Amino acid sequence: MTKLCSTCGDSFALTYVYQLAVTAETRRFFCSLSCRQRGLGAEAFRAPRARRIAILNQKGGTGKTTTAVNVAAGLAERGHRSLLVDTDAQGNVGVSLGVSGERSLYHVLVEEHDPESIAVPLGNRLDAITSDATLAAAEIWLARQNPEQRSRIMTHRLNQMKVSRRYEYVILDCGPSLNLLNQNALSYADEVVIPVTCDYLALVGVKQVLRTIKDIERHLGHAVRISAVLPTFYDARTRLAREVLSTLQGHFKEKCIGPIRKSTRLAEAPSRRKTIFEYAPRSHGAEDYERVVSWLLRDRAQAPAPFASAAA
Ligand code: ATP
Ligand code: MG
Repeated sequence: MTKLCSTCGDSFALTYVYQLAVTAETRRFFCSLSCRQRGLGAEAFRAPRARRIAILNQKGGTGKTTTAVNVAAGLAERGHRSLLVDTDAQGNVGVSLGVSGERSLYHVLVEEHDPESIAVPLGNRLDAITSDATLAAAEIWLARQNPEQRSRIMTHRLNQMKVSRRYEYVILDCGPSLNLLNQNALSYADEVVIPVTCDYLALVGVKQVLRTIKDIERHLGHAVRISAVLPTFYDARTRLAREVLSTLQGHFKEKCIGPIRKSTRLAEAPSRRKTIFEYAPRSHGAEDYERVVSWLLRDRAQAPAPFASAAA
């Protein structure tokens, strides 16, 4: 296959992997290693690395699972290989999508099963590692491990799977607590998206989340970027919702994404075992989550360890 070099413009026969660099939107071709180096600079030989995003808020019912499921599905629909990991013993990811893996994250964490054999393919570039009540036993097991290591066990196990090489995005659905599973999720993640409901107590909750992230950063010595605060259950007809939204926007500025409106279709989709894009592609819910996906894709340039520019 003959290609034009993106750096020097010469035509050449595409033979080696290093001659191709894939980003989210473009494919670039290089006739030689030096052209690759000149064209990509510091990124030229960086290994591919998935972007790891935890969807976290220790408050219950803020739209974490809905966000994790639809963001992962939306990224996959845009052509990005994505892995959705349920780190919550409620197991709502599997329930929402109508899948129950024979084995769960428990088996990955505690029994050291090969994560690759546990991920369930959901089609269209989306895989999931589901969870269920057995994960509560994993929490107990984690508590018995060496305090120095127990927050990094998920990182070790998922790295075994070479998740970073197989996927462009890993989306972690976190449970509503401050447990060791969430510490593990934060230790694995590079960044966090915080869904916040548009009510007064949610504002108090978001401060707690920020404090938790800071504590965990200090405790684990691992930086986690807050990439977005996502207002959820937004109903523009209520004054309180408008006020909460404007407070969030004032505080988080460009990190506050446009809100997810309260939507019956979003509430119904899990009962049909579908993502919002499958269940009601023209609904407000689908439109709002499309916007979140676009935002994340635009924001990727700021991610600390981008997969972009990596050799295919
Ligand atoms: P938990 O803390 O228990 O894990 P969660 O933060 O994951 O909860 P979800 O399960 O995503 O929250 O949402 C709670 C409920 O609200 C679900 O029944 C979901 O279908 C519904 N829901 C989520 N987002 C919306 C929305 N924008 N409009 C209407 N219903 C929604
Ligand atoms: Mg949930």
